[in-house]
Amino acid sequence: MYKSDRKALIKQLITKGITDQNVLKAIGEIKREKFIPDVIKHYVYKDVALPIGYGQTISQPYTVAFMTQLLELKPRSKVLEIGTGSGYQAALLYDMGIKVYSIERNFDIYSKTLKLFDDLRIRVGCKCGDGTLGWKEYAPFDGIIVTAGSPAVPYELKNQLAIGGKMVVPVGDRETQILKVITRQDEEIFTEKDYPQFKFVPLIGREGWKEE
Ligand code: SAH
Repeated sequence: MYKSDRKALIKQLITKGITDQNVLKAIGEIKREKFIPDVIKHYVYKDVALPIGYGQTISQPYTVAFMTQLLELKPRSKVLEIGTGSGYQAALLYDMGIKVYSIERNFDIYSKTLKLFDDLRIRVGCKCGDGTLGWKEYAPFDGIIVTAGSPAVPYELKNQLAIGGKMVVPVGDRETQILKVITRQDEEIFTEKDYPQFKFVPLIGREGWKEE
């Protein structure tokens, strides 16, 4: 079930410009239906964002694929994800042979997704807390993926990038954001590339938005 739908989704993603074969392969393998509530299952392989409760969303497959492609990862790279949410993005990275660490600030979402990872035998290092501060114990990271929109690039996260590592982070106002790709060329040298226009839920934390 759903396999043909995933094939159709992959075709759509290729049309929209996804070329990374490892990303496409993982999209073909991960059962997105496991990561969303039952009531909306018939939308699962449409290329749209979907609600996962608590006012949060699972990103559109194109956005997940595009952000992952931008990280230019090699197998066994170490990646930090901010905003575990449904767990779909982390599952995708894990399927690509990446060592994944993920932080979620909402305890209910964190607990639910931790259990799901356990059930599906997805081995991701998880923690509940403010992801804008990163995860020092496991730094530096080859890739950092921020899956919520921030008012600015969180400074601590930049610091936790390995030399040659990349961070993908949506930066803008609360409504729309530009996807920034930051590459750490050297200890103090960072380069930036921008990709408009995306829409994420807000990153809330010390280096993000204040809670309303
Ligand atoms: N990557 C997710 C998308 C999650 S939506 C997926 O694949 O489904 C963004 C998530 O970021 C929400 O669950 C929200 O609670 C969380 N979030 C917001 N601010 C955060 C912060 N400072 N640290 C960690 N998680 C945060």
